[in-house]
Amino acid sequence: MKHIIILGDGMADHPLPQLGGRTLLQAAHTPWMDLLARQGRNGRLVTVAPGFHPGSEVANMSVLGYDLPTVYEGRGPLEAASIGVDLAPGDMAMRCNLVCLEGDLLKNHSAGHITTEEADTLIRFLQERLGDERVHFYTGVQYRHLLVIRGGDKRLDCTPPHDVPLQPWRPLLPKAECPEAQQTADLLDTLILRSQDLLRDHPLNKQRIAQGKDPANSIWPWSPGYRPQMEPFSARFPQVRSGAVITAVDLIRGIGRYAGLRRIDVPGATGLYDTNYEGKVRAALDALRTDDFVYLHIEASDEAGHEGDIALKRQTIEDLDSRVVGPIYEAVKDWPEPVAIAVLPDHPTPCEVRTHTAEPVPFLVWHPGIEPDAVQTFDEVAACEGSYGLLKEDQFINTFMNA
Ligand SMILES: [Zn+2]
Repeated sequence: MKHIIILGDGMADHPLPQLGGRTLLQAAHTPWMDLLARQGRNGRLVTVAPGFHPGSEVANMSVLGYDLPTVYEGRGPLEAASIGVDLAPGDMAMRCNLVCLEGDLLKNHSAGHITTEEADTLIRFLQERLGDERVHFYTGVQYRHLLVIRGGDKRLDCTPPHDVPLQPWRPLLPKAECPEAQQTADLLDTLILRSQDLLRDHPLNKQRIAQGKDPANSIWPWSPGYRPQMEPFSARFPQVRSGAVITAVDLIRGIGRYAGLRRIDVPGATGLYDTNYEGKVRAALDALRTDDFVYLHIEASDEAGHEGDIALKRQTIEDLDSRVVGPIYEAVKDWPEPVAIAVLPDHPTPCEVRTHTAEPVPFLVWHPGIEPDAVQTFDEVAACEGSYGLLKEDQFINTFMNA
């Protein structure tokens, strides 16, 4: 049997008064997910282990059954994998934002949504001036870049810059959590302050200011970690000779790389509502012909949740249903080699809170010949009655892959 996981990022939500006390999954018109829930079996999954923040990287690693306390190394190493930087033993990787400071305050975490092209000029410039045997800057995407410190100590207290808009930045500089990490913390503080001296008068920033845009006038490194000790997916599930991941999101690509999943880039996959759903479905079906496992990640509903836009999030859920789940089910339901389908979110991104929460998510599993349970629709409430109950850690992936 082949396996595909269709993941609707942030799709789960809370009951909303605007929807008569229903959740978006309950209110949205989702005939295909409901059909699979009715013909398959259902349950709920804890995707955010105690003590972890409900980030997409955390939740997606959980869906794939990786033990977070063992493998989680922060965002830096995942972004390194996403942009193809191999971390050697002892290399510490950090997400390195280009940010905009205004005096003592951190104005924004994105340097006014700087483009990749502009950012690349600045990151190369910083690498030229600040890079050495130990320090390496790599360009990522837009404001999201990578800093690798050879021999760095990751025991640092760092602040995600998107959590502290308009707060004084000096008290938030990286701090050592133990004496051994002091040297790394000092190095980072020096790099941040020197980046400010270098970036202040850079022609590109002068030009941005003249255009009324925010300058990228500091780096902000955070989320340090080493290369994760992630076992390849095929080592855990030998029936998967090869697998593939389809996503528009760097962190998910990084997870895929460490999991040994082939990365498929789909033109027009944006991570937004205008993403190329049909292209992603074609790529997923092509991959299912050659590979044994496909992880199809769709970001749009998470973005709509962050915007708190109920109508838009409903649209993304209905799009996932009619343009992804339906066409994939219709295409594979009669294949000679049966295909098992799972549909689930990674975490809720409730419109009313506009950020991720750690509550369990509903999931459905369908494959030809599966004995259905009593659940009739795919949503947070109906899934509570599912025959799988409440799963955690690797129980979902083991259940699904050994179906
Ligand atoms: Zn997510």
